[in-house]
Amino acid sequence: MGDWNTTKVLDHGFVHLRDSMPSIWSTRVVDGLGAGDYRIEEAARVSTSHLPMDVQRSIGVAGDYAVTRTSEQTKKLIKYMFDNSHTTPFEMVRLTYVVKAPIFVERQAVRHRMAGTNEQSARYSKLPCEFYVPSIDRMQEQSTTNKQGSGALLDEEQALQCIGLIRRSAENAYRDYESMLNSGLTRELARMVLSTNFYTQKFWTIDLHNFMGFCRQRCDGHAQWEIRQYANAMLSMAEHVAPYVISLFREKHGLVAA
Ligand SMILES: Cc1cc2nc3c(=O)[nH]c(=O)nc-3n(C[C@H](O)[C@H](O)[C@H](O)COP(=O)(O)OP(=O)(O)OC[C@H]3O[C@@H](n4cnc5c(N)ncnc54)[C@H](O)[C@@H]3O)c2cc1C
Repeated sequence: MGDWNTTKVLDHGFVHLRDSMPSIWSTRVVDGLGAGDYRIEEAARVSTSHLPMDVQRSIGVAGDYAVTRTSEQTKKLIKYMFDNSHTTPFEMVRLTYVVKAPIFVERQAVRHRMAGTNEQSARYSKLPCEFYVPSIDRMQEQSTTNKQGSGALLDEEQALQCIGLIRRSAENAYRDYESMLNSGLTRELARMVLSTNFYTQKFWTIDLHNFMGFCRQRCDGHAQWEIRQYANAMLSMAEHVAPYVISLFREKHGLVAA
């Protein structure tokens, strides 16, 4: 997967930034500022009665908007709003992703209610035999200090045994799924036996303010490792849309770019 807006995640998944508002295809980064950064400034400047130049022209009013703004002024305004929780201008930028992820990852992602999701339906079509099997360096034991976290690595023999069990369970489930479909059972019931490591796909749209809320929670070390891989991939792509805002976000939360 070569383009900057498509990344492979886990063994069969991916993240693809489909488009954004303003469009990723109109984005040209100058002085560390992208189209998303400028959109935030445009929206914010309406508060002080400054409309964008082209809007002023369209309505036949002469004004002082962009001609008098320097990159440093734009950055100063955005940083002020970022630091002081003036959040609504950040909602004027939107991101749309296409994502393929295991069902258990999607179940965590769908909790972010401010995002819009349209997910593949296993009622309409038969799911392929694609399921997530963690690699051996992810085969960790239950953490003793964090009830929802992972601890040290299992020893190799135990890890390989568990990997074998994960694979066998999913293969058995898929065999039963196909067998029930072949018996004529409706897809909406047959799918019940598939485990949550089977892959699903979705379109996912979110504004930049809520996207940063998602990344604050899901790039964090307390989030499950698998969803972190997706959140980090999405964050890197958002950098092309609003590079200055994402750099402020990374700095605030100690998230280093890959
Ligand atoms: C490490 C971790 C562990 C978790 N464990 C669990 C768990 O065990 N069980 C579980 O069910 N969930 C769990 N969650 C999900 C968590 O409780 C949130 O539902 C999820 O992270 C979405 O966060 P959010 O509400 O901020 O995002 P969104 O739903 O996108 O909402 C964004 C913001 O909009 C506002 N908002 C949205 N909906 C409402 C509302 N109805 N009323 C008022 N304000 C609203 C809030 O300000 C909210 O922060 C976990 C999340 C994390 C990161």
